[in-house]
Amino acid sequence: MSCVFCDVAEKKSPAKIIRETDDLVAFHDINAQAPVHILVIPKKHIPTINDAKPEDAALLGKMVLLAREIMGEQGYDWKGYRLVMNCNNDGGQTVYHLHLHALAGRWMTWPPG
Ligand code: AMP
Ligand code: ZN
Repeated sequence: MSCVFCDVAEKKSPAKIIRETDDLVAFHDINAQAPVHILVIPKKHIPTINDAKPEDAALLGKMVLLAREIMGEQGYDWKGYRLVMNCNNDGGQTVYHLHLHALAGRWMTWPPG
């Protein structure tokens, strides 16, 4: 089954990649909802947070820590930012490969606009 974020992780689809680790990729969201809008994904295909297993706990932690690190590098640690993970239809999930949004550069309301 084709998956846009698996394609990003495997470099089959172009993305503005900020950081890559053994198990994660961070890249700019194609449709930014804030001056800075970054997505952190696991290379492993996990459709939603509902599908994460106890053995994925470290991976989930690494996603949060990488997002935090990038926000810090970009100078938003003190000013602030928002980390969001949407789940399924009512959560507003549109891409069914787990991803953590990191948004910064404006005062946050949700939904944005
Ligand atoms: P969600 O609604 O939580 O599933 O978020 C999916 C996000 O992925 C949206 O903010 C999209 O703009 C973003 N997106 C979809 N396709 C791409 C892509 N090829 N490269 C970067 N971001 C993407
Ligand atoms: Zn995938």
